[in-house]
Amino acid sequence: MSQKIGIVWFRQDLRLHDNEALTEALQHCDTIIPIYVFDERFFHGKTRQFGFPKTGKFRAKFILESIVDLRQSLRKMGSDLVVRFGKPEEEIFKIAQEFKTSWVFCNRERTQEELQVQDDLEHNLWSIGQEMRYSRGKLLYYTSDLPFPITQTPEIFTQFKKEVERAVQVRKPLPLPSSLPVFDFDLDIGTMPSLEELGHQPFVVDERASIVFQGGETTGLGRLNNYLWTTGAAKSYFDTRNEMLGADYSTKFSAWLAQGCISPKKVYHELKAFEHQHGENKSTYWIFFELLWRDFFRLIAKKHGNKIFLKGGLREEPNRRLRNDYKLFQTWVDGETGVPFVDANMRELKLTGFMSNRGRQNVASYLINDMKLNWQMGAEYFESQLIDYDTASNWGNWNYLAGIGNDPREDRYFNIENQAKQYDPQGAYVRYWA
Ligand SMILES: Cc1cc2nc3c(=O)[nH]c(=O)nc-3n(C[C@H](O)[C@H](O)[C@H](O)COP(=O)(O)OP(=O)(O)OC[C@H]3O[C@@H](n4cnc5c(N)ncnc54)[C@H](O)[C@@H]3O)c2cc1C
Repeated sequence: MSQKIGIVWFRQDLRLHDNEALTEALQHCDTIIPIYVFDERFFHGKTRQFGFPKTGKFRAKFILESIVDLRQSLRKMGSDLVVRFGKPEEEIFKIAQEFKTSWVFCNRERTQEELQVQDDLEHNLWSIGQEMRYSRGKLLYYTSDLPFPITQTPEIFTQFKKEVERAVQVRKPLPLPSSLPVFDFDLDIGTMPSLEELGHQPFVVDERASIVFQGGETTGLGRLNNYLWTTGAAKSYFDTRNEMLGADYSTKFSAWLAQGCISPKKVYHELKAFEHQHGENKSTYWIFFELLWRDFFRLIAKKHGNKIFLKGGLREEPNRRLRNDYKLFQTWVDGETGVPFVDANMRELKLTGFMSNRGRQNVASYLINDMKLNWQMGAEYFESQLIDYDTASNWGNWNYLAGIGNDPREDRYFNIENQAKQYDPQGAYVRYWA
């Protein structure tokens, strides 16, 4: 009998724990070829309308670090990671053809550009009698466990929350594989590209950054452990979550969650273990509550497809007063609007790739409601710049703040002066980023 070979295509699931595609490949194949492709369109391309680098330097560096870590982890288990730069539908196809593999396993993506790539690869595989096998890896919940079909996902978050909390259990994360088949292929495993090859000059992150975001499953699990068990910061999350200075006012899990270095199910069950030992409180519940927002935006993106990217958003009602004034927009990007609270936040984003949730809400509201600029400019700049960019979370939040999302409250206006008084009463944050 001939050996069954499976390709495991790592995408935004850069981990070995709770990795459904990897687990399925191990169940169905005798041996596997793990691969990651730095998609040239994502690393050398530009954002849709306004031409920012599609993957800015902070995220590019984070992804590189994550791939280095993934390769090391695979090697420790006797396997390896093939690395390519190009188009996944071509690079993976070539390997599938050469090694006569049976399937390509991957965790399914749901937004347009990522879908196109997987569809193109699938099409190519069909031409040689091979197939894709899709798994899921992004959500807390399995869509098949939800009490509604995706097309009936409630439009309002509170309704969504009520329904899922009432009816669905978060499944246990899949365990780390106990072993992996030895990687024994006559195949160039590929060298890791440099940051320059991904389109960016090497840089040192500003030392004022709230946390060192180093990519990878190892550091992601380390952060989870640190936030829960070492510092116990999770116990006071509810009270600190609107702050803007320091490592522990919020979890900072976002960048690791966005690249799949940690799984949301893993975070949830670790929280449950923490509650078991230290007791449940409003803070531990609220971390789960925020993770629900992440699931909610992803399901809404699945339900509505490309609408989240359009000026009229989910409601298909573009606000015609919002314009593309590039000069004015640049003052926002550079933190030179003259409004200290906005400028400090925008400088933090520019210099570190991160901004607190409180900051994001304020600068987005300021761009839309005070500067009267097209919200898509802000969303695309965030897409480029954020270390934790996640398509559904970013565009979903921008839709929401622009008042064209699925929330019935129009004009989510933040009065910046009041917000600064409330959340930075002594001006410490503004001075920090002066
Ligand atoms: C305009 C705008 C754009 C945003 N873009 C992104 C994005 O691209 N990627 C991203 O991960 N988050 C985005 N967010 C949500 C939120 O600001 C970040 O998830 C959060 O600040 C990250 O820090 P943290 O991990 O410490 O969050 P915590 O406060 O510790 O929350 C825990 C986790 O819950 C999830 N979460 C929290 N708030 C939200 C939310 N409002 N929507 C969706 N998920 C949430 C994140 O995965 C986060 O890591 C955006 C918010 C706004 C207002």
